[in-house]
Amino acid sequence: MEQRFALNVSTNPLWKLPITDPRCNNASCFDFVYGYLDDQLRYSNYNFPLYAQWTVIFYTTTVTLFFLLHLYRSFNDQSHRTRLRERVIACWRMVNYRRASGWIGSKIDVSYGQLILLSIATIFVAILPFFQGYFLRDLFRYGSPPLSVRCAMLISALLPMCLALAGKVNIISLLTGISYAKLNIWHRFVAYIIFALAVVHTIPHCIAPVKEGGWAELAILYRKGERELSGTVLLTSFALMVVASMPWVRNRFYEFFKIGHIVLAILFVVFLFWHIKGEQITPDYLYGSIAIMIANFVARTIYRNRVPLSLKEFVHGFPTELEVLPGNVTRVVIHCPQRLQWQPGQHCFITIPGITMMQAHPFTIASISWKHSRHGRNDVVLLIRALKGFTKNLAEHATNHKMSNQSVDRFTAIAEAQKLRISTRAWLDGPYGDVHPTIDRQYHGVICVAGGSGITASLPWLSYLACRMRTSSHSPLESCKTRSINLIWCIRSLHWIHWAEREICDALHDVMIANQQLDGLDNGKTEERMPERSSSSKGKIKVIIFVTSRNVDETQMSVAGLDLLLAAGVDADDTHVQVEVIGGRPSYSALLPDMIDKKRNIVLACGPQGQKIDLANSVAQLQRMVLRNETKEIALHTETFGW
Ligand SMILES: Cc1cc2nc3c(=O)[nH]c(=O)nc-3n(C[C@H](O)[C@H](O)[C@H](O)COP(=O)(O)OP(=O)(O)OC[C@H]3O[C@@H](n4cnc5c(N)ncnc54)[C@H](O)[C@@H]3O)c2cc1C
Repeated sequence: MEQRFALNVSTNPLWKLPITDPRCNNASCFDFVYGYLDDQLRYSNYNFPLYAQWTVIFYTTTVTLFFLLHLYRSFNDQSHRTRLRERVIACWRMVNYRRASGWIGSKIDVSYGQLILLSIATIFVAILPFFQGYFLRDLFRYGSPPLSVRCAMLISALLPMCLALAGKVNIISLLTGISYAKLNIWHRFVAYIIFALAVVHTIPHCIAPVKEGGWAELAILYRKGERELSGTVLLTSFALMVVASMPWVRNRFYEFFKIGHIVLAILFVVFLFWHIKGEQITPDYLYGSIAIMIANFVARTIYRNRVPLSLKEFVHGFPTELEVLPGNVTRVVIHCPQRLQWQPGQHCFITIPGITMMQAHPFTIASISWKHSRHGRNDVVLLIRALKGFTKNLAEHATNHKMSNQSVDRFTAIAEAQKLRISTRAWLDGPYGDVHPTIDRQYHGVICVAGGSGITASLPWLSYLACRMRTSSHSPLESCKTRSINLIWCIRSLHWIHWAEREICDALHDVMIANQQLDGLDNGKTEERMPERSSSSKGKIKVIIFVTSRNVDETQMSVAGLDLLLAAGVDADDTHVQVEVIGGRPSYSALLPDMIDKKRNIVLACGPQGQKIDLANSVAQLQRMVLRNETKEIALHTETFGW
């Protein structure tokens, strides 16, 4: 450096130019060298990589904590908790499960627990680039504004995380056991943070040149195609992605959003290469991001094709039946090979080539795999509510096809609902989503709460648990802790019961059989074989259906309830197998306490946002029962049709 200075002094006419001269902008000018070094002393470029490293440490620590929690839950018997632990968990759930109600609740679909985590992450990211001040360098020619570079470092470090959270099959789900659908809120959160940081990154980059050389200086940078130009393109592409993913746009133009999101995400990465050309540090994070994108794609492709298919199944899909049900619902039954297995609570994406080849839509699987199914069939059953796009076309396809084939009008088609079936084929991608493999081995009481078509999330649990009760009642090798199943289902019209009557009847029947087997045991028939079983462990199932329409009278509702019992072959006086059909809406805080088992309970819910808020707040309040020693645990798991 000294040699270069000496050379400059002797041969360089620019050496003595004052810093106010625009030509004094590199090492040929003494004032620039002095000013630059002074500026570096105040805030060195070597500090910048630390911001990216701290960000990575922050999120890897968070993921590691959730990973350890997942490991602990998977390998520890949760049923032997101390009283103190039960109480501490109940106190945490009292806060964690609670949700904001009213207008805010309808707009923000997060629990207080999620809100706490989101707030910690926001505070961390908001403090990191700002707390040490020194936002602009003394002069723009000394280098990019420190605030901009710090934000750029944070963006680079967050990008791999944002992409990892976006995949349907991704490393975070693998480590934490949290499904991609639940992680989606974090994908969006990280993306919004990146966008906010990108805006903050841009502002000093515009202020600094204008401060130094006026608007002309900024214009020169754009004309020369400096980073300001690529940065503007980059910011615009990200802004478009953010706008397209806003609920208002996304809900109205989902297909446009989906294709646009993929195209813009790829363009963003390409523009990023252009933007960071010549950078030393950030390319590492960009390469990491690309590696994650490729890994997501490869993992999804492998997962999607893991079940070997025949050529016909691969090209045309699985044989599928469509059935028209009341309330604009189509029951789709896909006959799958036994190799394809799924768990209650999971969903799959279906494409029906007869309707469209280009769209795949997610639906919760209402049935259970052949291993547990009462009939031994491996049918994926979906209940699909017609909205405006694919679902409407599907409903029309089912009714119109029948009308053209059998010349019945639409009214008759719906009235004749369950007698109508048409055959088609469907491609299936999945299953995806949360897995709770140990509910029957962990929880004594299970309460399923559903609103409208949210019943699809409750039905597989109802079928599975009733089936486990039945099989465990005559097999000493099988154990099922669940002794009480409750279903609370809110529907608008009495006819909607048809959507779920088969699964509900099967479950009622299974529990009745389970109890009969235990009665046989009580009579001493099987006492020697299963000495540990007795009638005290008889199973209970209660289905309460709330009909909100005012056009239904008491008699119709009682008849509907009796019909279900009759179809299930259950005696109406059976106190262990009950069905009630009631008018109005449920009050969860009044209903739930009577359904809670003395040991461990879980509430599984799927329905509209308002129902989810009411229920979550009631379950948060019910944690007092744990504190009062009236029960050991009340857990809650909620789903929504969307992310
Ligand atoms: C995990 C999950 C499980 C679901 N389970 C069921 C179920 O069991 N029964 C049921 O009736 N519905 C279910 N849904 C909702 C169902 O996927 C949408 O109603 C359906 O995709 C709407 O298609 P459409 O073209 O008719 O939508 P439109 O009428 O165009 O839009 C209606 C709504 O559906 C959303 N939507 C549209 N396409 C998709 C898509 N490909 N993926 C996600 N959302 C989309 C839109 O954002 C909009 O909010 C589920 C959704 C999810 C995310």
